[in-house]
Amino acid sequence: MTLTDGVRIFRGGTAILPDGLLEDAFVECRDGKITSVASRGSVADRSKRVPENAEIIDLKGGYIIPGFVDIHVHGAGGADFMDGTVDAVRTACRTHARHGTTTLFPTTTTGTCEEIMQMLAACSEAQLNWTVANGSTIGGVHLYGPFFAKDKTGCHSPEVCRDPTVEETNKYFKTGIIKIATCAAELTGAAAFYRRALRNGCLITCGHSNASWTEMDRAFKAGMRHVDHFWCAMSSVSSIRSRLGVPMQGSMLEYVLSNPEMSTEVIADGCHLAGELLQFAWRMKTSSRLCLVTDSNRAVDCPPGRYRFGSSKTGTWFESDGKAGWAGNGSLASSVQGMDHMVRTMHRMTSVPLHDIVRMSSLTPAERAGVAHQIGSLEVGKHADLVVLNRNLQVKHVFLRGQRFKT
Ligand SMILES: [Zn+2]
Ligand SMILES: [Zn+2]
Repeated sequence: MTLTDGVRIFRGGTAILPDGLLEDAFVECRDGKITSVASRGSVADRSKRVPENAEIIDLKGGYIIPGFVDIHVHGAGGADFMDGTVDAVRTACRTHARHGTTTLFPTTTTGTCEEIMQMLAACSEAQLNWTVANGSTIGGVHLYGPFFAKDKTGCHSPEVCRDPTVEETNKYFKTGIIKIATCAAELTGAAAFYRRALRNGCLITCGHSNASWTEMDRAFKAGMRHVDHFWCAMSSVSSIRSRLGVPMQGSMLEYVLSNPEMSTEVIADGCHLAGELLQFAWRMKTSSRLCLVTDSNRAVDCPPGRYRFGSSKTGTWFESDGKAGWAGNGSLASSVQGMDHMVRTMHRMTSVPLHDIVRMSSLTPAERAGVAHQIGSLEVGKHADLVVLNRNLQVKHVFLRGQRFKT
């Protein structure tokens, strides 16, 4: 890439910054990095010095935003990361890039140790040999299954849920690719798992858990700071009462709402949570502690039908109706949508300001996963991972490291 090949200028619309909208924006990127973010008036002189063969992208009254960052995602385009092949990883990444996601964290499910190791190897190779044609970059892996509580497995196969052992988790962490680590707080071995994840610099999360307040507080002291898909497969006062009796005790819900250090995430596909819950989560946690995630399975951009959640050979079956995934027992089996859909749904169903919605799908997940120094906002010096949306918030152009991704 020559220097001038790498210059792109975006103008004719609004830039969405973490704390507000910048009208009549001028955004420039060179050689894969953002080099200017300003309003047009303030760069009148500078814009005269635009290199002759710079590419000008007219926003046509739409928006330029940082590419989406998805910290909880299982697959797309017919592929699940647990298929364990580089091809499957790339299929899912290309599909999500078309929906505006520029960085994602492939998320494991409840497989065998061998299946998880194969998935980690495939993701490492895809991460190492990435080109723009491969779509979303891989920020690291989210080790999610198999350390779930047996009474909160949701659509995951309970037979392969287990307690974390030092021997098994060491194998995963030694690959160096795990950046987000989930374990139900009440499991035997959870504290040791959290300590190991902390040494690896992971965002530590508790999910598919029936943990009590006391167990959450113990986990917090061990480094846990996040809870997966709020309201889904998590404890409540009544579930803790069933498990531990009276007096009634606090659950994950009260713990997350009362602790300002704790973050969480919502699946804003319009099927998992009603508008008032999406609004409530934002109001309680604010945009710096709430992430939008897709939690999408392989059926994104696929026709309705039966698919496997997790590995194509051993995963459990679910049905996609084109709106969400449904498990055999009638419960939801994660989403079938990309992040652009989540952003539009949040915009349609709540009164959350647009800049907060974009923050929750870019900067906040980047901050929580420890990559915000490189990505997540329109800031000079960060990677030019950029998305152009039209006025209806539909994806028009995607740029990864300053290069155009052909959607
Ligand atoms: Zn889940
Ligand atoms: Zn999930």
